[in-house]
Amino acid sequence: MATPTRVDLDGNPIKPIIVCMIGAGGFIGSHLCEKLMAETPHKVLAVDVYNDKIKHLLEPASLPWGDRIQFHRINIKHDSRLEGLIKMADLTINLAAICTPADYNTRPLDTIYSNFIDALPVVKYCSENGKRLIHFSTCEVYGKTIGSFLPKDSPLRQDPAYYVLKEDASPCIFGPIEKQRWSYACAKQLIERLVYAEGAENGLEFTIVRPFNWIGPRMDFIPGIDGPSEGVPRVLACFSNNLLRREPLKLVDGGQSQRTFVYIKDAIEAVVLMIENPSRANGQIFNVGNPNNEVTVRQLAEMMTQVYSKVSRDPPLETPTIDVSSKEFYGEGYDDSDKRIPDMTIINKQLGWNPKTSLWDLLESTLTYQHRTYSQAVKQALSKAVPS
Ligand code: NAD
Ligand code: UDP
Repeated sequence: MATPTRVDLDGNPIKPIIVCMIGAGGFIGSHLCEKLMAETPHKVLAVDVYNDKIKHLLEPASLPWGDRIQFHRINIKHDSRLEGLIKMADLTINLAAICTPADYNTRPLDTIYSNFIDALPVVKYCSENGKRLIHFSTCEVYGKTIGSFLPKDSPLRQDPAYYVLKEDASPCIFGPIEKQRWSYACAKQLIERLVYAEGAENGLEFTIVRPFNWIGPRMDFIPGIDGPSEGVPRVLACFSNNLLRREPLKLVDGGQSQRTFVYIKDAIEAVVLMIENPSRANGQIFNVGNPNNEVTVRQLAEMMTQVYSKVSRDPPLETPTIDVSSKEFYGEGYDDSDKRIPDMTIINKQLGWNPKTSLWDLLESTLTYQHRTYSQAVKQALSKAVPS
């Protein structure tokens, strides 16, 4: 039986395309490559300095999609092959970035170079060669909510007008320059403005994606296992590491900040819709998150403790969390986004996308993966550690 023709949201047949995916070896890139290989006919030129997270898609060459994915070990900071790959592709997706908060205040120069300077040639090559670009920005471009500046007891803080983040209406509110946390948000904002201006002045076909805390398997690393012992990944991996080592989860400044978490597999469906529906995605900035999955970081820690106890069958710790100051945890210059609720009107209207997975369910599948992947290695590392 012939495979049915895949159609876009307007009922037109989808033609196979070549995607140049920069940062394909990272967390989001690995899931996007997996989805494109398993469910679409598209080809991927996967660009990254690492490929550990997509090795299972590259080897053996006999995999059913073996001729549709090619890995190019390229550092986009200094490699003349980049323009050739962008020219060869129909669409470029740029995911490459330094995007872990622990780096923003401790390596602000690397953060700004990575998120702004290194992205410049990608935008330029797309614009000059008439190629479509999907650029990954961040929800952090919104910074703090307007509501966070109201008095603590103001009833207006409960009014969505003061906290819901809208692509075409909300301001970008960052802290002072000495709070170097905002180096990332500011670099991302400037590259967004540049992409937008290339669209307005030179006709670049672009889509900007603002992810709101996408989480799932393969996110970041477990310190001392598949990343540096002193490294500080994002919260999912920090808390997973604590749970695997049976040590209390560290709540920065009391864990009062609020986040909405979306399951990576839901979010990837939104990206595939953008790839395959250019007429609906071009010229748009999209929030991609799950407004129904809001928790404080403290509540996240409590839920992860419960879920991990279920999947590992270990009893929860007597003291599951401890408070640490942000200065102690991240160093000087840290600051935080207070609350991140994405407005979903634009992505709903253009692509009809909605997230599906509840926070409990996404934590259960993710922590099952973390336990299966890391628990033996962590046990071995702990047994080898010399008691002080
Ligand atoms: P990640 O760190 O897992 O992936 C980034 C990848 O880019 C890495 O594999 C890295 O090796 C690669 N890279 C970085 N610099 C490079 C260079 N100079 N040359 C070649 N490759 C390079 O991060 P992620 O979570 O997959 O995020 C992808 C994008 O989405 C980033 O732009 C990030 O800012 C954005 N984002 C993600 C989230 C999220 O929830 N995961 C939230 C906000 C924004
Ligand atoms: N956080 C925490 N403990 C940790 C790691 C992070 O309390 O071990 C907090 C951090 O201060 C922030 C939130 O968790 O308020 C989310 O942090 P993440 O690194 O995932 O990135 P962000 O959402 O701030 O971009």
